[in-house]
Amino acid sequence: MICLGIEGTAHSIGVGIITNVKGHCQILANLIKTYQPEKGGIHPREAANHHATFIAPLLSQSVQAAGVDFADVDLISFSQGPGLGPCLRTAVTAARALALSLEKPLIGVNHCVAHLEIGRGTVHGCHDPVLLYVSGANTQVIGFAEGKYRVFGETLDVGIGNCLDKFGRAIGLDFPCGPKIEKLAETGTQYLPLPYSIKGMDLAFSGLLTMAEHYVREGERIQDVCHSLQETTFAMLTEVTERAMAHTEKQEVLLGGGVASNKRLRAMVQTMAQDRGASFFVPSRDVCVDNGAMIAWLGCLMYESGLRMSLEDSLINQRFRTDMVEVTWRD
Ligand code: AMP
Ligand code: MG
Repeated sequence: MICLGIEGTAHSIGVGIITNVKGHCQILANLIKTYQPEKGGIHPREAANHHATFIAPLLSQSVQAAGVDFADVDLISFSQGPGLGPCLRTAVTAARALALSLEKPLIGVNHCVAHLEIGRGTVHGCHDPVLLYVSGANTQVIGFAEGKYRVFGETLDVGIGNCLDKFGRAIGLDFPCGPKIEKLAETGTQYLPLPYSIKGMDLAFSGLLTMAEHYVREGERIQDVCHSLQETTFAMLTEVTERAMAHTEKQEVLLGGGVASNKRLRAMVQTMAQDRGASFFVPSRDVCVDNGAMIAWLGCLMYESGLRMSLEDSLINQRFRTDMVEVTWRD
């Protein structure tokens, strides 16, 4: 079966086309167009306008890149949530229009679960991981237990990416700030103490963000503050991930989301995995970031397991929780 997926939860609009080859996800095309705010963070309406402008050309470019015709596509899937309302509505409108005009089935998928499934579908040896999902808006530690994807820990305030972006904005960096902070942190030499806020299995970043901004105002070296920000937040993320692995007795850890590009975070999680004798996986960058292929792949798994969605049920849900998904495609 060939599935076309449309991703549009936040700043990117993506179209992916995949096929299931004996349980492995073969990606035929995966195109992404990203909205870049002129200044500040993502403005939901402007991001949605961006997506509406680019979705039609992306669709035709993706079938061309995949070497298929629209008629060859068996299923259309889309990101149903969580995400920004105007962006989600743009993606679902495109998906519905395409499904109706091609007379093909339509299925909506959970964005966070898609990040995990694309890891299982594309990374060799990755079968039952704990996912550390670190993106702009989302920060969750997710694993499969008793028939569902459970959230073992998550942020209580902003996502880790947003935390980095907010700090970056305060020091005059452009969005996305994560990569620039990573670069600055490389030449940081002094660790400045920041609040290490883990509450149970959940995390809070806003207090340490305030403290980091305070250090900058006090005249501390930017490189040292970036270094301290990364060391503290990434240690918190690694700790919660390790505890989820210990609790569930899982032997694999998978990274997902835009912040997973960060080399320091990768190194910390990898060291933790090695110490536990567990396997460490990071999908390739094009499927780690928000992308249509992961939406297509999860849609395909859901459809092949017998799930169907009527047009009436294809409503978006900005607060679609990871653990609301009925997992019918795993034992
Ligand atoms: P996503 O929401 O998954 O598309 O990821 C976007 C987020 O990833 C933004 O907040 C970026 O600042 C962040 N990001 C991207 N690359 C890096 C990096 N190398 N280090 C830290 N954060 C990053
Ligand atoms: Mg994401």
